[in-house]
Amino acid sequence: MINKTYNVLKNMFVLDSHCDTPSQIFRLRDIGLDNAHAHVDLPKMKAGGVDGSFFALFVPSYMAPDTATRYALELLALVHDSIDANPDKARMAVSVQEALEIQSQGLVSIFIGMENGSPIQKSLPLLRLFHRMGVRYITLCHNGDNALCDAASQGTTWHGLSPFGREAVHEMNRIGMMVDIAHASDETFWDCIECSKAPIVSTHSCCRALAGHRRNLTDDMIKALADKGGVIQINFYPLFLSDEFSEVLDKSGMDPRAEEIETDFRADPADPAKRAAWYAVQDELLTLPRPGVATIVDHIDHAVKVGGIDHVGIGSDFDGINVTPDGLENISMIGKIFDEMRRRGYGEDEIAKVAGGNFLRVLDEVANIAVSMR
Ligand SMILES: [Zn+2]
Repeated sequence: MINKTYNVLKNMFVLDSHCDTPSQIFRLRDIGLDNAHAHVDLPKMKAGGVDGSFFALFVPSYMAPDTATRYALELLALVHDSIDANPDKARMAVSVQEALEIQSQGLVSIFIGMENGSPIQKSLPLLRLFHRMGVRYITLCHNGDNALCDAASQGTTWHGLSPFGREAVHEMNRIGMMVDIAHASDETFWDCIECSKAPIVSTHSCCRALAGHRRNLTDDMIKALADKGGVIQINFYPLFLSDEFSEVLDKSGMDPRAEEIETDFRADPADPAKRAAWYAVQDELLTLPRPGVATIVDHIDHAVKVGGIDHVGIGSDFDGINVTPDGLENISMIGKIFDEMRRRGYGEDEIAKVAGGNFLRVLDEVANIAVSMR
């Protein structure tokens, strides 16, 4: 439930660059309500002073191409339905200008991202169509190699971008679609650095120097991302934040069970028993000792030190993670991060950059580069 613990800053656009809330809408969440167990819904965003959020159309790697396309379309349709049902709270945005207008009306901006490029199959027309329908970034892959590139958790098919992946990155540059390398293998990352004409982003990753997960970015990667004008958006997933937590989770044996229960629930979201089981296992995961707000800010600090204050932001991964940081159990509490940054000596302008300014800058720049390429 909503937990508002800080003062909303003025002159700041708070933007979360990645949440998996569409997957929860698919599981029958009404985002107009303050839902128990939800990481993100409109009342919690409002309470947290969140001005905008990228809702990711997450498509699991196991889906066959046509199924993946259909599923992405259904998630997109559900997001549109949810926004239509809440005209007093939210509007869809595709540009910085729109988002600022929406903010001035006191409403929340919902941007659309796509997590996993599999729904575009091997079709540039489909890529363009998703852009026309409002998608503004594509996370090239999820936890499996696909037609575009290799993933961090596999990385055996192409050794980076596929030939089609290179074409797709070029087309994304040309139409103004951000290239998101969260989940990509290191080789894919370096291929994108080399071949993208626009800045690239990681919408939800942490620093590998602080936690060794292969999904996290090394210092060299953070530096290259920054040199190209992009941003690393720090993820809240305890497993990416802390090696210590990774050990705790392993020892608990809860993760495989939680995944099984979630798969069961995803297949049958209307079944109240399956929903109850999923809530119960999440509550159980919350009993583990977890990293908190300070650890998130440690990652922000590190990324700022390596890449600079203009190249770091926040991508919660909320509603896509089965366990949350201690004290940051949903989006209404996001301001604790800014309070901790303030405590560590960051100025208000610097906090505003990390809170959303940097990601909006890149969104705008990618759109401008597309115009210049026409
Ligand atoms: Zn993800």
